[in-house]
Amino acid sequence: MAGIALLSGGLDSTLAVALYLEKAGINLALTFDYGQRANEKEVSAARRIADYYNIPHKVIALPFLQEQTHSALVNRSEDLPLLKSDELDDLSRAQLSAHQVWVPNRNGLFMNIAAVYAENLGEPADLITGFNQEEAATFPDNSLEFIDAMNRCLSYSTQEKVTVVSPTSTLTKTEIVREGLRLKVPFEHIWSCYESKEAICGQCESCQRLKRALLRNEAQGLVDQLFGAE
Ligand SMILES: [Zn+2]
Repeated sequence: MAGIALLSGGLDSTLAVALYLEKAGINLALTFDYGQRANEKEVSAARRIADYYNIPHKVIALPFLQEQTHSALVNRSEDLPLLKSDELDDLSRAQLSAHQVWVPNRNGLFMNIAAVYAENLGEPADLITGFNQEEAATFPDNSLEFIDAMNRCLSYSTQEKVTVVSPTSTLTKTEIVREGLRLKVPFEHIWSCYESKEAICGQCESCQRLKRALLRNEAQGLVDQLFGAE
């Protein structure tokens, strides 16, 4: 069995790699550059993480996806949605935020591209993704149903057996941090922010979910290290 990781440089995909490596090796990690605000930060984070785990790393540029994406995640003239910390569990508020950072068919596209690399390995291969339960509520392309549907498609579109797996998909962000602490993932290399400033912004939805999960795991030291002592 071979493995190809979709590594964004964020916590979820990093933990998915760490969990998968407990059982099997990974042949390649792929990072996609579609002009997202944080592309440079994500690519360098993913490179550091791949190096840390000794996995060959490849960056795939998708300029057409940048052209076709008009949401604030790519379009720097739009403001990113800001959720207050007490709005993270407000489904309608989180759905609006998800709409504001939507990228058309992103995960479907990424998995299909990764499946090309996987099929060329010449043996059955897993595509390792870092979905999580918290975001599946607002991003349907992070859900278990989507993984099942994707695997049905891949059974027709690839000759070698290519299967999407997501070791993190049933975990909440808090559980992901807990597992990350257990496996000593390199939190200092991760970039989980939608913005691309010198330091993580601490304000975007992604930063807030990470910070809340760290606090729930009583990882105050990491909060200070990543977000700056307040
Ligand atoms: Zn942020």
